[in-house]
Amino acid sequence: MLITHDTRCALDAVVDLVNSAPDDPDDEGGGNPEGLADVAALRAFVRNHSISDVGTLTERDLAAVHRIRGRFAEVFAAAEAHAAASLLNELVAAAGTTPRLTDHDGYDWHVHYFAPGASVADHLAADCGMALAFFVVAGEQERLRRCEAPDCRRAFIDLSRNRSRRYCDSRTCGNRLHVAAYRARRREAAGLEQGTPQGGDLERDKLERERLERGLQQEQVVQ
Ligand SMILES: [Zn+2]
Ligand SMILES: [Zn+2]
Repeated sequence: MLITHDTRCALDAVVDLVNSAPDDPDDEGGGNPEGLADVAALRAFVRNHSISDVGTLTERDLAAVHRIRGRFAEVFAAAEAHAAASLLNELVAAAGTTPRLTDHDGYDWHVHYFAPGASVADHLAADCGMALAFFVVAGEQERLRRCEAPDCRRAFIDLSRNRSRRYCDSRTCGNRLHVAAYRARRREAAGLEQGTPQGGDLERDKLERERLERGLQQEQVVQ
């Protein structure tokens, strides 16, 4: 599927938005604080993601953004395309959209969806909603995922070629779990094969490590 510059920006924004939510206090290992605690934090979010034309931000904007963040979290949690589609339809319809072609800032022609003068929540709902909608259209809704690390569950979008990414960030969650699995296998092998000459272990070690590294590199491929 084609991911234009703006789509990529919208995807980054929606992942950051969903992951700004505080952890459910009932969750094991919870403790991530509210990432959008006040208007200043929202202002920083808007600046970091270059969200244009949203005017002066207020407490109302903050509350509205918290609301749509909850809806987007449901999209990432949707088990299948129908559920994701109806959530996205609601989000985009409530935001009101005005699709218009633009080639601003030297980018190729692409479509903006937010209506002129839209609030920041409506802007996000329209453009991020449409960016996610294209995943459903392409039959790729399963790429919208939650990290499988037990103490993480952050949202991410799997853009790997073979849709095999399971963790939010292969350098932290992914790497950590690969290493844990690798060590567990090593311990098991050491227990089962006592008496094997040390040289054989080292060789197997090296091959295993290379295999893991190749796997990690594949996970990082972005199309
Ligand atoms: Zn644009
Ligand atoms: Zn993670």
